[in-house]
Amino acid sequence: MKLDRRKFIGSGGLLAGGACLLPLFSACNSGKEGGESSYTGSGLKLSFEPFDLQLKHVFTIASFSRTTTPVMLVKIEWEGFVGCGEASMPPYLGESHETATKFLSSLKLDQFTDPFRLNEILAYVDGVAKGNCAAKASVDIALHDLIGKIVDKPWFQIWGYNQEDTPVTTFTIGIDKPEMVTEKVKEAAPYKMLKVKIGRGTDEEMINTIRKVTDIPLCVDVNQGWKDKHEALDKIHWLKEQGVVFVEQPMDKYDLDTMAWLTQHSPLPTIADEGVQRLVDVPKLKGAYSGINIKLMKCTGLREAHKMLNVARALDMKVMIGCMTETSCGVSAAAQLSPMVDWADLDGNLLISNDPYEGVIVQNGKVILPNRSGIGII
Ligand code: MG
Repeated sequence: MKLDRRKFIGSGGLLAGGACLLPLFSACNSGKEGGESSYTGSGLKLSFEPFDLQLKHVFTIASFSRTTTPVMLVKIEWEGFVGCGEASMPPYLGESHETATKFLSSLKLDQFTDPFRLNEILAYVDGVAKGNCAAKASVDIALHDLIGKIVDKPWFQIWGYNQEDTPVTTFTIGIDKPEMVTEKVKEAAPYKMLKVKIGRGTDEEMINTIRKVTDIPLCVDVNQGWKDKHEALDKIHWLKEQGVVFVEQPMDKYDLDTMAWLTQHSPLPTIADEGVQRLVDVPKLKGAYSGINIKLMKCTGLREAHKMLNVARALDMKVMIGCMTETSCGVSAAAQLSPMVDWADLDGNLLISNDPYEGVIVQNGKVILPNRSGIGII
């Protein structure tokens, strides 16, 4: 990246003109950037750029369809080191290029001269405004990446995890016509577990179509699509017979009493996704669900995700690490936690055609963490 571009981004904080085909933030070096830096002070310097992810397939879940996802690519510079972060903002979550621009522009990170003071810095970021969880996550991820690069260690190592303990990742199959589902499942042959979106009245058709192609384990994500708990229980029994291993967000996220009944009777674990956002939610869900799906974009980033994982474990709950449609930046950050989870759904970067980064990869269905510092991307 040339100096004039960097200065341009840094001086305005935002690249004018909105999303473009190729982002300026098209690579994230593993340590100190060579050559001259625009960095002029001792405080943290934040810059960001809006970008639109192009989805390989139209993505359909229980409530909507779409072909792009807006993201914000973020950098934090300090003493010649550069950390990269990302906010992924699927429209249904309420954040956008506009809201993220407003939030990130309001941050005064140059007041912090020590990036290791995560507590102070991220408490400040969280307190600037309510919501904006993905925008907050972008700062958290960039700060973690920066720190990892300064100490020259990947985060899985800083946390003391074994790189070999990564799980397989699920690959998501969206709701579609049988011929399209068949084609997508054939394309997904390298993966060892599929996550099937259901909840739109074609559940049996989706599962039966997939079972004609493959016998690998499945999980299902209902996205709150089931309305009656007795019907839901019948479906779960049927799904178990079809080789499904857990059920994500079967019913309304607000109806914890119904979820508690369903979880108590269900032969499969139930996992909260829409029903869990941040650390404070986790203890409230004990008994209502068997486990939680942690996503960096919901919970403001790695620092809180790491705490959620530990609290869920202390409560004897299952843990899944998930993602939105994201570049390899967000996915590789989340993957740093993956050696400690029961299941991973880290296919967000595999669903897009214009990923500006390289990071975590999938081999024989298993998440492979790169031996690179920070969150492991270039
Ligand atoms: Mg889900």
